[in-house]
Amino acid sequence: METIIFFVLMVICNNVAAQDYLNKWSFDPNSPIGPQHWAKTYPKCGGSSQAPIDIKTADVVYNPKLKDIRGASFLKKANQFNYTISNYGAAFYVTLTGQDTSKIPIYIVHGDSAYRFSSLHFHWGSDSKKGSEHTIDGKEYPLELHLVLLNVDESATTDRMLIWAQLFEVKDTRNAKLDSIVNNLLKAKKVGQTDNIPAFLLEDLLIDQAAEKYYMYYGSFTTPPCSEIVKYLVSSKISHVNEVQLEEFRKLLASADEKTSMSDNYRPPQPINGRTVQSNFDLNESSSGSVSSIASFFNMVMALAVGFSFMMKM
Ligand SMILES: [Zn+2]
Repeated sequence: METIIFFVLMVICNNVAAQDYLNKWSFDPNSPIGPQHWAKTYPKCGGSSQAPIDIKTADVVYNPKLKDIRGASFLKKANQFNYTISNYGAAFYVTLTGQDTSKIPIYIVHGDSAYRFSSLHFHWGSDSKKGSEHTIDGKEYPLELHLVLLNVDESATTDRMLIWAQLFEVKDTRNAKLDSIVNNLLKAKKVGQTDNIPAFLLEDLLIDQAAEKYYMYYGSFTTPPCSEIVKYLVSSKISHVNEVQLEEFRKLLASADEKTSMSDNYRPPQPINGRTVQSNFDLNESSSGSVSSIASFFNMVMALAVGFSFMMKM
């Protein structure tokens, strides 16, 4: 049974059927099957814990108990494999080539759970004023990366999936760390196309220290059926991309007629509905070096105190 559920989940998450996408839903806000109409066909899309959201930094709650993301094996092993890029219409997905998805040895640990790498994809705009799914204080970004990982505990509910999101802003200089993806995008230009791409480090796609500062909330897939089973970690640090690289993303096609661009493949922010966005860092401290130092000292003292109490229990 677990295997069946896992398989179904993988089909839903990884292999958004191009046919389903083309016929039943669209990202186009002006389409009769656009995001505001999804709930008619997919009731969960009208749920109360949907994604993405606008992260209002003034409302973010600092939770000092939130752990860092531990991903040593995830980061180190990721370049030992070859990857496959596939165009499903709504997005292109990058997965490990020829791997039994239930045994992929690339995972991260967050909180009390381990999450196994499943795939990655991006959302982007037809111009650089838009494209990201998450927004921060209303600001949209031209590109957003989603690393999709699945909880190794198949009975997990609200965090059956973990999506690690990285936002990008435009700069003049190219982001060389995106080359492994950008240089291979046209291998999946048309719907249904799939091809191998060389090994690369997943770590390179994330900005340095992305693991250290993040926002966290519970939400859903941002595409139908919008299942509310996703824990989001959104890096608070913004990576960069240049216009030349973005133009490569914009060459991808979303339909068999080779006329429709894949660009603007993002769902707009959904109501927060009383949910709390937490952070593993204090936003008030990050702007002040002196307060940061005090916080670091405080953390050090706390760590010593925790270590001491642990020793006392031994
Ligand atoms: Zn996504």
